[in-house]
Amino acid sequence: LEDYLIHSERLASIGRLAAGVAHEIGNPVTGIACLAQNLREEHEADKEISETSNQIIEQTKRITKIVQSLMSFAHAGPHHQQHYPVSLSAIAQDAIALLSLNRQGTEVCFINLCDPTHVAEGDPQRLAQVLINLISNARDASPAGGVIRVRSEEKDQMVQLIVEDEGSGIPQTIRARLFEPFFTTKDPGKGTGLGLALVYSIVEEHHGRVDIESPIDPENQLGTRIRISLPRHIDATPATG
Ligand code: ADP
Repeated sequence: LEDYLIHSERLASIGRLAAGVAHEIGNPVTGIACLAQNLREEHEADKEISETSNQIIEQTKRITKIVQSLMSFAHAGPHHQQHYPVSLSAIAQDAIALLSLNRQGTEVCFINLCDPTHVAEGDPQRLAQVLINLISNARDASPAGGVIRVRSEEKDQMVQLIVEDEGSGIPQTIRARLFEPFFTTKDPGKGTGLGLALVYSIVEEHHGRVDIESPIDPENQLGTRIRISLPRHIDATPATG
């Protein structure tokens, strides 16, 4: 428990610091992107200048992506938390629809097996963000044609969102670092290392927990199962009569 507390304290302070820095970085980066765009338009005929301008624009997009993830940490914390009933099946459907639009990377098959009666209590947008991060990690790890299942379970006062993939699994050696901000094994252009750190802080805001099981299939060292436990929505409508 102590480790857990130290970890969340550290995450919270990294989050505050990062959000402050991100805020300061955002404006100059937008400035750089605009200047590069102007340059490209003014020198349309010059191949070298347009190529370099494109590269500058691409790199600023990367920075913007990191900055946006960092800003998400800033919204963490109990003060910002919204309390709504959140249908697990509905957010799974939305996340899958969103990721199906974005056809970067491997062709995979998404299956939503969530029980429509399983409803969590929390912030729908932030819980959707959790799912998007988990599913896109699952896709990055999957072989072509791999199946990604999103399921739900109900246990006592909690509901669970479960994302399973048939990917390469997570080696034991990096297990301890998964939730660390900026820890990534992906190519520099691809991963920011903020996905699971954000998942962790959002789930923590909800007083939930994250459990990772990998490999699912120990014989072939394949597959990862990530289980998010969240408080169950209790229908508080008083009974009439
Ligand atoms: P990023 O996706 O930007 O690398 P994350 O914090 O989301 O950052 O993930 C950190 C690392 O955890 C990934 O780089 C990857 O090595 C590992 N990982 C996360 N999810 C999976 C998964 N489903 N299968 C295999 N490895 C995973």
